[in-house]
Parts: sequence; structure tokens; C-alpha cells
Amino acid sequence: MADRGPGVGTERHVAYFLRCLDLLPYIYTSNDLNRITLAYFCIVGLDLLHALQDVPLEKKEAWKDWIYRCQAEGGGFRGSPQVEGLGRRYDPGHLPSTYFALAALVSLRDDLTRVDWEGTLHLIRRLQRKDGSFAPFVMETVDGQGEELGGEVDMRFTYCASAVRYILRGNDCKVEDVKVDSAVDYVKSSINYDGGIGQGPGCESHAGLTYCGVAALSLLGRVDALSNLRQTIRFLTSLQNQVNAPPTEDADAASDDEDEYDPGGGFCGRHNKMTDTCYSFWVSGSLSLLPSTSNPPPMDLIDKEANRKYLLQHTQHKIGGFGKNAGDPPDVLHSCLGLASLAVQGEERLQGLDGALCVAEGAREFLATLRTGHATDK
Ligand SMILES: [Zn+2]
Repeated sequence: MADRGPGVGTERHVAYFLRCLDLLPYIYTSNDLNRITLAYFCIVGLDLLHALQDVPLEKKEAWKDWIYRCQAEGGGFRGSPQVEGLGRRYDPGHLPSTYFALAALVSLRDDLTRVDWEGTLHLIRRLQRKDGSFAPFVMETVDGQGEELGGEVDMRFTYCASAVRYILRGNDCKVEDVKVDSAVDYVKSSINYDGGIGQGPGCESHAGLTYCGVAALSLLGRVDALSNLRQTIRFLTSLQNQVNAPPTEDADAASDDEDEYDPGGGFCGRHNKMTDTCYSFWVSGSLSLLPSTSNPPPMDLIDKEANRKYLLQHTQHKIGGFGKNAGDPPDVLHSCLGLASLAVQGEERLQGLDGALCVAEGAREFLATLRTGHATDK
């Protein structure tokens, strides 16, 4: 059997995520208001590594309590409990933080009974714009007489709203829904000639935003709305960079320090960009959600072994975790998404991944046991 090179360094990745959860390295201090995002990456990473079951119960309860301290008055979650007390105008529930909090709670197998599900479902409905897109937050006007939508227009928020809706609505939910057709039309209007999806209509195609659009449609049960599936598959698969041999010692390029060595084999977000660990997930996660009726199935159109080698030989780090580019120090986003890409490809020693919610399959199965009726029993 061919030598497949190094495998997943499970123990060091577990130690890395636990270290980051307990004491975030100083490089994250600028993200202090966004700690729920960092917690999500660590918790999902541990779940993919089958490590959550070994974390003491008290510790997991403390993590859950911390997440609930981020819950905002009136629905949704904020990025950190440290901004508590600023009031609803300056500190409302935030859509991405709400997704990260709920996905982390589901990964911790929390029963979500402490979630203000009704307030949160009302919140995502209020966040929807007339064009079907979603704003990241809504706040009271200065005079306190009304409310206004804040933040930019971005496909990421459509994904977060679709995921929050999926997690909380359950079946037979009585709370008024978002306008699903309008959200689907918004994603459709953001599909470009090349089959990729941009930040919004007319914006350049990008792998991360294509994932957000495709996963949103999947969670809304509307993947069939991808009007040019063949082009979308072509766009995604064309983002795999070719494998490059390491530079030789006497190569002139060695003196040109603008050209970092890119081993290739993984993916980039836009053509002619450097291979980057997170794009391994944005692309493979997207492909995993597309109909597999075509022959060959979309996932079989990429070189999975080359992607695996890029991740495990070039960005998996000695101290645990994965870096963004070959040789980079690890960070929690690229560590989680590197594992997520390996998991979606069926890497041994990892749990399978639910490509749409970006949580381990076990977490989505747990959610399925909660979904029936949990949004109707209050
Ligand atoms: Zn990246």
C-alpha cells in the first residue's frame, strides 16, 4: 500500500484546542469582543477529534454557562460577555455570534432549553432586508422610538440566519418565519456567470462566499435553486492549486522574498491566489452539499489525496493545530477548518462532518433528537 505520509496528530491537536479554550494566546487579544467565535472553532475541533467525551463534565458545564452569559436581552447572542451592560442600542444580539453560540452548544450536546428561542427567531426575522439578505444586527434608534439595521451586506449573514433558523425552528414551529423565498432569490441573484457566489449581486465569486450561499440553500432545503450546477462545480474544483516542488537552493526565486513557497495541492479562494488551509473546507464543504447524482459525484472531482497532503504535511503544526499557509503558526480558525476538510473527506480517526452546519455528525444527530417540537413547547 502506498505511503500516505503523516496522519492526524490527534493528541497534539486536542492539547492545542484545550490550551486555547483555557487561555487564548496574546495574538487573539484584539478579538476579545469576538470570543464566542474562537470558542466555537475549539469546541467543534475537539468534537471532530472525538475528544469532547473525555472533557470532565464540570468543565463542559462551565463552557456552556460562559456561552449563555453571551445571550443578549431580546434574543440572540453577543460575541463576548464582557460587553454586558452597554444596553440594547450598543450591545444587541449579533447574527454570526448567535450562530457560533448555538453551534457550539449543540456540539456540547446542550439541550438548548436556556436559549431564548422565540426572541432569537424574532430577531432573525427582523434582520431580514427587503431584498432577502440579512443584516448582522438591529439596534434601537438614538431617540429610542424605533429600530434600524446595522452592518454591511454579506452572504455570510444569509448563511448564519439560515443555520440559526435550522437549529431553532424545529418542526411545527408557530413563530413567524423569515421570508424563505426571498432569501433564496437573494442567493440566486448573487450567482455569477462562472457559477461561483459573491458577497452579493454583482460581486466577485469567492470560495468562502460560495460555501455560505450553497450551505444556506442546503439548510433552507433549496439546493435545487443553484441554477447552473455544472458551472458551480467547475468553479469550485478549479480552485485546487497544482502541487509545486520545493524550491531548489540555487533558484533565483530564493532571493525574491515576495514569493513564499506554496506547495499547492490544497485550495485558494479566488484564482491565482495562494493555497490556504481554510479554503480546503470552503471548497470541500460546498461540494459535499451538492447533489451527488452526477457521475462522478462532485467530491470525486477534486484530488483528495493532494488536499490531504497539503493539510497534513504542510500546515499541520508540530505544537498542534493548523496554520493558514505552509509553515505558518497555528490559529484556531484554520485548525478547525483544516480538520473539517479532512473530516468531510472521510479521514480516519476523525468524526464525520455535517457540511451544512459545520459541526460533527454526532452533533447534528443530537440536534435531530431535539428538533421535533422543542420550538413549540413553550
Ligand atoms: Zn484562510
